[in-house]
Amino acid sequence: MTDVIDGNAVAADIREGVTECVDVLEDSGVRPGLATVLMSDDPASETYVSMKQRDCEEVGIEGIHVDVDNDAPAQELYDTIESLNDDDAVHGVLVQKPFVDQVDERRVLRTIDPVKDVDAFHPENVGRLVAGDPLFKPCTPHGIQRLLAAADVDPEGKEAVVVGRSDIVGKPMANMLFGRDEGGNATTTVCHSRTADLAEHTRRADIVVAAAGVPEFITGDMLSEGAVVVDVGINRVERNGESTLVGDVAFESAKEKASAITPVPGGVGPMTRAMLLYNTVKAAGLEADVDVPL
Ligand code: NDP
Repeated sequence: MTDVIDGNAVAADIREGVTECVDVLEDSGVRPGLATVLMSDDPASETYVSMKQRDCEEVGIEGIHVDVDNDAPAQELYDTIESLNDDDAVHGVLVQKPFVDQVDERRVLRTIDPVKDVDAFHPENVGRLVAGDPLFKPCTPHGIQRLLAAADVDPEGKEAVVVGRSDIVGKPMANMLFGRDEGGNATTTVCHSRTADLAEHTRRADIVVAAAGVPEFITGDMLSEGAVVVDVGINRVERNGESTLVGDVAFESAKEKASAITPVPGGVGPMTRAMLLYNTVKAAGLEADVDVPL
């Protein structure tokens, strides 16, 4: 029997823990606050931001939202971030991607105060993760680590293959999988679009993390018997005249081979959202010097 890992259930547990942290913080007179910043009129980005705001409300985090006109000079965005860095009611700052053309993405990431950088994309936080001393872990790979733990999958000593080398998923995921901390210690290979024979790598893997953004391209014949398959991809495709969401993994054929697999939707996605809340209460605890039960 293949274990279909229920990301919604694990995320609900994380949110419960976050709610307890919020209570502990409030007992110390601290209301954790997350600021989202949007400089875009892209409807998908608007949806993502409003989902994050709703998530905050549900666990008792104060959600603060700032819209920056997408025609404004980039400096307006940098100044907005600076003022949120200086705002004591704000413990986490998240600038929604993708950025409009005039904005320098790297400058945005550098401008967020590292102690409020709940996405963990600031170069200081990237460096700390690589050095094995993370302040915050980036939400998607951290969520995957928690999903694997919830499914009783310990990467130690296993062969892990990460498909994708992006800064937000592939690279930090690989770092966590081969890192020395709990949830790591796997022998880890990173594949990408120039990998000569992807299937040769995935077939060797005990754990496959698919984060390429290519609909259903990891098929059952590319997996070893009993592999654990984590599908990060979120791809919108047309099926029978309807728009639907699929992952990077062909679920049905992969399920034939896998011992455990995450579905899309309902796998990694809810975990990414939950870990943002986790990082926000962690940031508030650090700032206020309150021990939160994470
Ligand atoms: P990026 O586009 O930034 O990176 C994709 C990576 O996959 C690149 O490293 C690319 O290689 C590699 N790649 C692309 N095509 C292939 C291929 N045919 N074979 C092997 N490798 C390939 O994507 P992200 O990392 O931001 O996101 C990946 C997917 O995960 C997307 O579908 C995204 O929507 C989803 N996502 C889901 C989240 C969630 O919470 N569930 C969170 C974040 C992302 P190269 O470097 O050579 O170009």
